Amino acid sequence: MEAHNFTNPFFSETAFYNRIVLGALLPDQAWRPLPHFFQTWLRNYIGGTLLYFISGFLWCFYIYYWKKNVYLPKDAIPSNKAMLLQIYVAMKAMPWYCALPSVSEHMIENGWTKCFSKISDMGWFGYVAYLMVYLVFVEFGIYWMHRLLHDIKPLYKYLHATHHIYNKQNTLSPFAGLAFHPLDGILQAIPHVIALFFVPAHFTTHVVLLFCEGVWTANIHDCIHGNLWPVMGAGYHTIHHTTYRHNYGHYTIWMDWMFNTLRDPVDDDVKKM
Ligand SMILES: [Zn+2]
Ligand SMILES: [Zn+2]
Repeated sequence: MEAHNFTNPFFSETAFYNRIVLGALLPDQAWRPLPHFFQTWLRNYIGGTLLYFISGFLWCFYIYYWKKNVYLPKDAIPSNKAMLLQIYVAMKAMPWYCALPSVSEHMIENGWTKCFSKISDMGWFGYVAYLMVYLVFVEFGIYWMHRLLHDIKPLYKYLHATHHIYNKQNTLSPFAGLAFHPLDGILQAIPHVIALFFVPAHFTTHVVLLFCEGVWTANIHDCIHGNLWPVMGAGYHTIHHTTYRHNYGHYTIWMDWMFNTLRDPVDDDVKKM
């Protein structure tokens, strides 16, 4: 470790995260000798895996067991086999997914991005204003990344089709949230990293937002329509999995509405009746 690293606030912060996660879960000699980059990767890997299983299990327990028949009819509950397959696909991809935040943290530590370390560096007004710009950038970026993964046929065939084998209610579960081809998962998250080169982003907030993606993606695969405008919840995403041509969007329905690919779950139910 070089001396100047101690004065680098980004480095201190990532080293702190590494100490907290790895220090709590692994014996010192298993991670301390690793170079900082690999410590970061290992922390992201362990953190990502824990987040995936904890949010997935809690969510499944709540909707399939505790609130059985409340949110979903019995025939919409996926089999254990379907969920295990999703877990298998997600676990195969997880080491690769974790390369993205590890590389992005490396770029941030080296000062290659527009990230800032303390909210006071920017002031509250600047912080909130830039956060808004960042979020709009991500909404736009993820919408188009996802849409191009459908529109460019080889990308669909070799990457995104892996995620779309789950095309019925009873094959979708919160565990499908990270069941992607590794490169597909990385591409869909990459707007968060590209944004850092254009928008001044608060580093800790950026980390929290990446974390939220993990929770969100589990949530939109549970097939329960929340009906909370303008949130693009599971009701919308289930339609995406059945028509393949609608609702490419991320947190909100904004981009699909703007680019004419929105299909509302409530309208759909009315049509069925
Ligand atoms: Zn898709
Ligand atoms: Zn999906």
